[in-house]
Amino acid sequence: MRWIFGVFLSLCACQASTLPVLRADLGTPRRAADLLAVLDQPGPLTVQTVASAQWQVDLSGLLDLTDPRAQAAGLTERAEPITVYFHAIHHPTRGLFLIDTGVETAERDDPPHAKVQGLVRHFMKSDKLQVTQPLGAWLKAQPDAVAGVLFTHLHIDHIWGVPDLPPTALYVGPGESTAREFQHLFVQGPTDALLAGQKALRELAFQPDADGRFAGVLDVFGDGSLWAIWTPGHTPGSVAYIARTPQGPVLFTGDTCHTAWGWQHGVPPGTFTGDRPLNQDSLDGLRKLAAEHPAMQVRLGHQALEAAALDVQLPDDGVVRGAGGKFGR
Ligand SMILES: [Zn+2]
Ligand SMILES: [Zn+2]
Repeated sequence: MRWIFGVFLSLCACQASTLPVLRADLGTPRRAADLLAVLDQPGPLTVQTVASAQWQVDLSGLLDLTDPRAQAAGLTERAEPITVYFHAIHHPTRGLFLIDTGVETAERDDPPHAKVQGLVRHFMKSDKLQVTQPLGAWLKAQPDAVAGVLFTHLHIDHIWGVPDLPPTALYVGPGESTAREFQHLFVQGPTDALLAGQKALRELAFQPDADGRFAGVLDVFGDGSLWAIWTPGHTPGSVAYIARTPQGPVLFTGDTCHTAWGWQHGVPPGTFTGDRPLNQDSLDGLRKLAAEHPAMQVRLGHQALEAAALDVQLPDDGVVRGAGGKFGR
């Protein structure tokens, strides 16, 4: 009987979105050493992180509460306050790019006509969402149009602001839209609704990092100003970004790490993550990079780090499992 159930599940497994997927027109494959060579040099980008909404979700989704470090700290299930962010990256010649999109204006002004409706709206506890700065309201105050959106991944809370955008270039990590998973049966509808009006997704073309340190490294604009690091685990195509600014580098982890506690203690997300061991590898790799470059600001998926917490400690045993391990050649 079990094989029949397996066949049933595989028949149900579908893509995250039915939007066509094209190869990205941005991104030059590099190795980790190329990134490290310029990381601490001042760069030309300006960055702004916008808190689009405040929300509350289950801590067991944000943090793996079965992790011995979480259990030792006595962490148990609770409603955890989080923020839904988007980030604006200004490049002197390429213009304005967004990392993720925050929340659409209709969630604040006209919830019955918001794109996320039905059961998914119920399960996402949208009644706990307080929209403070919808993407559309922010865009109206900007002199520049959006040249493109770089998604850390396609979970609904990262594409929630897309309905406020005109058709634009949308960039995703490898397999982010095309991997077939059973749970996509439930989110493909709302994902497609949020992306309706857009023409295609453009998949970043990572190649294996020749240094074996990361799954893949891209120089997004080809001038060393903005870097993409493939951080699979939370989702297949999760991507972190590093922007080089005049004040130093800024790391955007996406949901490879949702919470400040998770970053400080090296504990990956819980039930919101698809592959926890792989997420742990990717998280370890980013924490090691931050520990080696203490001037780098770290902006997490859904919570702010206190300035004092930027001095990231390596895991207690001193072993960073992501480096040269799963991603090694
Ligand atoms: Zn996520
Ligand atoms: Zn998220």
